[in-house]
Amino acid sequence: MNKQSLFTLDDALHQLLHGLKTLDQPERISTFDADGRILFEDVHAELSVPSFDNSAMDGYAFNCADWTANNGKLKAGQRITAGSQFSVLLPGQAARIFTGAPIPKGADAVVMQEDCEVIDDETVLIKAKPTMGQCIRRQGEDIARDSLVLTKGTRLTPVSLGLAASIGLAQLPVYRRPNVALLSTGDELVMPGEISPSDLPSGSIFNSNRYFLRSLLLRLGCTVTDLGNLPDKLEQTKLVLSAAANSHDLILTSGGVSVGEEDHVKPAVNALGQLHLWSLAIKPGKPFAYGQIRNHHDLLTHFIGLPGNPVSSLVTFLLLVRPFILSLQGCHQIDMKSYAMRSDFGWYKADKRREFLRVRRNSTGGLDLFPNQSSGVLNSAAWGDGLIDNPPYNLINPGDMVEFIPFNDWMS
Ligand code: AMP
Ligand code: MG
Repeated sequence: MNKQSLFTLDDALHQLLHGLKTLDQPERISTFDADGRILFEDVHAELSVPSFDNSAMDGYAFNCADWTANNGKLKAGQRITAGSQFSVLLPGQAARIFTGAPIPKGADAVVMQEDCEVIDDETVLIKAKPTMGQCIRRQGEDIARDSLVLTKGTRLTPVSLGLAASIGLAQLPVYRRPNVALLSTGDELVMPGEISPSDLPSGSIFNSNRYFLRSLLLRLGCTVTDLGNLPDKLEQTKLVLSAAANSHDLILTSGGVSVGEEDHVKPAVNALGQLHLWSLAIKPGKPFAYGQIRNHHDLLTHFIGLPGNPVSSLVTFLLLVRPFILSLQGCHQIDMKSYAMRSDFGWYKADKRREFLRVRRNSTGGLDLFPNQSSGVLNSAAWGDGLIDNPPYNLINPGDMVEFIPFNDWMS
């Protein structure tokens, strides 16, 4: 299919993700290095956390029945510091205990030191009436032995690394990183650094897509090969794309997928495999190309062509490429979560397409709109801290509740 067909975002996502095979060759890596990676196997706890009852406070550990029998006046006993071995409390004793230290056998409460008074070398007065079990962190209250701690397909966060470490895991099984080749198209593009801004010829622009696309790919755990700008010649375009297909899981381009454009990406991908050109019913971000290129192992490498307008490129990346890349790595958390928030502006230019408006949260809990919503104005997304997901034909009045998607959720 080479004809432009109109696609809803959900259709496009379905086409992209349905039947998508996850990457082969998972690996075991140091837990230290696993932030952002996707877990390849379920992780169970081989022990309880904490693995023993321990004190939540610096104070005294004793038995509540002893406290009642002795009106709170107990014999000063042993000193139990964090890292000590288990010990046994003698009848009538209060043991000096520190946070994290094991509760001695026989004790059933801890009172913090501020509520205790040392009378002499042999006696301590526990002034506060204790309740059974107080200030004791029970074995297994964080994690029960044999329980499922982290699920296959989870995207690991700094906190999940800490959790894995708490059950003693120095290594974690993860999907391998996707290898992505990144390319731009457009003879007007100049790389920053090649020409000083004051010398930029009229008609030229600096290549901005390459910078944010590369960074977004890196944040999603990809290994990125930046192949620069595609030359404006069919044979050379084919050579670059077919070489890239041999060593990458995905080739991502930006620009040159608009309707009727005289560019060489479409014919090149078609010649090397297949290309579907979708006209997405979203704004910004109408043209979007998806296909495969056959490599020299006779395997198919994914191809995605994003629109060139910077905001269209950004939005289609977040809506479609991000879930695609996470799914390649077996990640289950790909839904875009939106939050109901109050609009503090009116929007009366409702479009027949589902629209993603660049907005910013204000200090009163509402959303402000960036005045220029053109798909070429990257500043709208830099100023904004998220998007409103506005349904087709939907007008917005100030005070209306709208669906807000924070960039933070997406760009990490
Ligand atoms: P295209 O999709 O190639 O028709 O490009 C649409 C618009 O996006 C044109 O104004 C291009 O100059 C611009 N554009 C394309 N690629 C880039 C890029 N890498 N960085 C900044 N702007 C771009
Ligand atoms: Mg172009």
